[in-house]
This record gives sequence, structure tokens and C-alpha cells, in this order.
Amino acid sequence: MVPYSRHFIDQDDIDAVVQVLQGGWLTCGPVVEKFEQKLAKIVHAKYAIACSNGTTALHLAMLALGISDGDVVLVPAITFLASANAARYVGADVVFVDVDPTTGLMTYETLEVAILANHEKSLKAVVNVHFAGQCENLETIHKVARKHDLLIIEDAAHAIGTIYIDESGKQHAIGSNSFSDITTFSFHPVKTIAMGEGGAVTTNNPEIAKKLKLLRSHGMIRDSLQWEGDESGPWYYEMQELGFNYRISDINCALGLSQLENLENFKLERANIVKFYDNACAGLNYLNPLKKLQYSDTAWHLYVVLIDFDILGKSRAQVMTELKEKGIGTQVHYIPLHKQPYYKNLCGEMTLPGAEGYYATCLSLPLYVGLKEEDQQHVVDALSNA
Ligand SMILES: *Cc1c(COP(=O)(O)O)cnc(C)c1O
Repeated sequence: MVPYSRHFIDQDDIDAVVQVLQGGWLTCGPVVEKFEQKLAKIVHAKYAIACSNGTTALHLAMLALGISDGDVVLVPAITFLASANAARYVGADVVFVDVDPTTGLMTYETLEVAILANHEKSLKAVVNVHFAGQCENLETIHKVARKHDLLIIEDAAHAIGTIYIDESGKQHAIGSNSFSDITTFSFHPVKTIAMGEGGAVTTNNPEIAKKLKLLRSHGMIRDSLQWEGDESGPWYYEMQELGFNYRISDINCALGLSQLENLENFKLERANIVKFYDNACAGLNYLNPLKKLQYSDTAWHLYVVLIDFDILGKSRAQVMTELKEKGIGTQVHYIPLHKQPYYKNLCGEMTLPGAEGYYATCLSLPLYVGLKEEDQQHVVDALSNA
């Protein structure tokens, strides 16, 4: 079976994990900091804070930016549930933003439409999701968001390794926060870098970084304390805020650190598979790949094709079943969030034509490091037959 995604582990990854297992720190040790430093360096951020997964990264980001009860967060309708759920964890309401049906991405135009339609609400922040690994024009989104006093959170769960090319041609790694306040990553094994479970938040603001660290571990600090009460001593620790245990272990970080060494290779190999699929798709009817944006030097996480199932005269379920019978796993990314029962209850019935148009046509094909050329051809042949 060729799955739609899977991790790639080499001997260096295994050795790195074994080394931690044989050492003195399984968690809260030096490898966590090493991983954070390496990640910060790669994405050109001042600070990187590693945490237990991409969802807790989003939750920490919301908390660290002070988003809370009564605030409203704008979230694109095409994303994984966690992008919106994190706003709910801090008590904020969610407004869904439409996407460009040819990319699955929120644009500055769809963002502005959503802002103007909800101007009477206390809009506080926008989550910009780099769907499939590709990024939109970050400057225009930044301009619109700032015009309306919105904080910007980049959900880069799909986009480690992607580089935004600005209007003057300058490069900005996703995670550098050149046009945002904070960025979150996921290192779940279906994503580009695998840690088993893992996530991280990057920022250039020292106060936000401090808060992220505090909240990651129970809101508790130990170091450099000035105790004013009648107890003082080396055992002393203090809880200043309600935090969580969202830490990540040295075991996971050893794997992540080793995987990051391969990020450029992973990006290249994924790009080659994307190129192969793009060429093959050009010869097929009823089907288009996602539109490629010139300002995104993309580390592709997903390969999505847009199929006109109506004209094809076959349902998506039928096509998926036919591919599955040939040993090919496909997936749908994503069911629009405003169609989920929980959010329908919360936000009411609404129509977002871009997101719904995108959803009606999307299908994700297998894309992962180690996907053999013969398997890529097999996918294209099976799709062509279907
Ligand atoms: C995977 C994903 C997350 C959540 O990451 P986990 O590590 O699975 O918690 C958040 N946002 C997006 C867009 C994702 O794809």
C-alpha cells in the first residue's frame, strides 16, 4: 500500500534517539534546547520554543498573545481543526474566512471581506495557514490585518522549509515572523519533519518567548527569583500564571534535530515529486494541480489535485475506492471547518463559496520522501484510468 503520507527515518535519526536513551536526560535536558536553537536558526527567528505538538503550539501562541474570552479570531475555513480549536481553548470566538478555490489559501481580499462583514465584533487576531506548504502574499495580508489592528499568527504546520519572496525579491523563511507576531509548527509524522509528536512556536519578541516558556511548564519558574516572603532557599519555585504541561521530551527532540539536518533534501525530493505529478497532470482531463504562487518557494507538504467530479461523472468516493483497490492511499484536506457540526452550532449556517468550491474538487495524492518513481507513475496511471 502506498499511503498518502509517511515519515522518513534514516540511520542517523535512529542513532540520535538511541544516544538520548543511553544518556542522563529523557526530558527537560539539553537536546530540547539544541533542537530549539537549530530550529530558530533555520527559520531565522530569535526564539523557538518546542512543545508537545502543533495543537499545543497554537494554544500557547493564543495564550502568549493574550487572546481570551470575548475576543474574535479569524481562521481560514480550509485547514485542520486545530487552527480554530486553539482559539476556542482560550474562550475566543471564531470567524471563518473564505479561501481561493485554486490554492486553498486565504488571501488579503478574502480576509478583508471577512473583516468588513464582522466589523462590529471585537476582532483580535487572524490565523494564516500555509496550506499544503505554500504561502500567500504575506505583505498584503499583513497590511490588511494591521489596518484593522489584528495580531497575526502563522499556522505553519505544513510549511517548515517554505520561503516567502517579498515584492522586492527578498527572502523570508516561514517562521521568521517578518510579517507576523508568532508562528507555530507541527512535527507529526505526516508532516515534513517527524518527531513522533512534536511542535514549536517561534517569535522575535523576548516577552512573548518568556511567556511561552512559562506557560509550557505549569506557569512555574525556578531561576533568578527574589522571594519576598519568609521562605527562601534552593528548593524554591513559584507559579505566576496558570500554565500547562506542554513540554516535549529529549527523545522526540533528538529525532527532530536529526531530521532538521535533512530539511533541504526533504524539500528538494518533495519538489521533484511535485514536478513529476505536475507534468503528468498536464496531460489529464478534468483535473488541475493547485495553482502555484510566485511568491512562495514551497516545501510541499501535500500534493492536492482539483478534480471536476461532476463533469467526470464519478464521485470522489468512487475515485478514492478505485485508487485504494490499486494500493494507493489518498485523502481529503480538508472538510471546511464551518461545515463541522461543532462550528455550525457555534457560528450558524454560512456559505463560503471559495472553500466549498475547493472542497468539492480536492484530493490529496501520495507525497512523501522515499516515494519511489515507479510508485509515482503507478499513482498517475491509476488516476488516469479512473
Ligand atoms: C497537523 C496540523 C495541526 C496540529 O498539529 P498536531 O501536531 O497534529 O497537533 C495544526 N494545524 C494544521 C494546519 C495542521 O495540519
